[in-house]
Amino acid sequence: MTSQLSFDVQLNQQARTAAEREQVLANPGFGQIFTDHMISIDYTEGRGWHDARLEPYGPLVLDPATAVFHYAQELFEGLKAYRQANGSIVSFRPYANAARFNKSALRMAMPELPEEAFVESLELLVQTDKEWVPTTEGHSLYLRPFIIATQVGLGVNYPSKTYRYMVIASPAASYFSGGVKPVSVWLSTEYTRAAPGGTGFAKCGGNYAAAFVAQRQAVEQGCDQVVWLDANEHRYVEEMGGMNLFFVFGDRLLTPALTGTLLPGVTRDSILAFAADLGLKAEEGRISIEEWQAGCESGELTEVFACGTAAVVTPVGTVKGADRSWTIGDGTPGTVTQKIREELMGIQFGSRPDSYNWIHKI
Ligand code: PMP
Repeated sequence: MTSQLSFDVQLNQQARTAAEREQVLANPGFGQIFTDHMISIDYTEGRGWHDARLEPYGPLVLDPATAVFHYAQELFEGLKAYRQANGSIVSFRPYANAARFNKSALRMAMPELPEEAFVESLELLVQTDKEWVPTTEGHSLYLRPFIIATQVGLGVNYPSKTYRYMVIASPAASYFSGGVKPVSVWLSTEYTRAAPGGTGFAKCGGNYAAAFVAQRQAVEQGCDQVVWLDANEHRYVEEMGGMNLFFVFGDRLLTPALTGTLLPGVTRDSILAFAADLGLKAEEGRISIEEWQAGCESGELTEVFACGTAAVVTPVGTVKGADRSWTIGDGTPGTVTQKIREELMGIQFGSRPDSYNWIHKI
């Protein structure tokens, strides 16, 4: 199926040379450098989606009174294009991101984009900028679809009547510069990320804006990442800054249930689906910080890992809170974490069978 939209294509006459591109790809970092093109689709209430286009990557000109600057009516997605061993370029479960995008859109009173249009927009950008998909093992092209409210005016009583959806792309190495080194986490009891009835499940920029102060506190405490707890009791684990968490009890995996206050990660969902194939029993539930600490002390809780598109699967080594700190296992990456990381990357990069039809050829 294809969407009803047809994209106008304007190629970048100032696209970077092969040598310039290779220089970037030798050391891409994360989210710093962008490819030569971008996608835009406009929306007007009453008219629907229109003016779909691919054009040279470049700055936007927006009126200072544009709604997004004032009331943060904005949301985004994040997924990757991978170069598989046979040279083909694929993405991983793009329809899952399309569905999450639309769930977020409903929460933010923004228009839904047909899933086909979402996926087509990714395909067109990646096909046009295919030379930017890294060939280095483990590297990928990070895709960032997003939508902003574009109505001009400061009225706060109604959602914007106009929007712009866009996609930009950025070659990516490892999210954490230390590679698969275990991260240390800070338990945030002073701040909460999301409360029932709020926007925790939506991938809106405001959730991230409100998180920076706690992330900065985590770094001040000598930790890599913040762990969010529930808004009522500040006891139950929700998720990490940009990743979901899994707790490993021998061959049993536990991840916090989707209560509406955490982001339903595509990686989380994939691990829940394939865990049984690796001989692991996976369940969704609830875990408090006391249970986390006691489990590590008794040796029952053997590993903890974080998962997400950007950081894939990353072990958690140590935990610090205002009045407690402890180590998980011996603080080094565990075997279950490694097994899950290898399975996931194996599917994404094509060395393992795609038993669930998650791979989408571009
Ligand atoms: N939680 C948060 C807050 C995130 O920003 C992300 C990244 N999108 C995740 C979890 C993991 O989601 P995914 O596996 O879809 O990347």
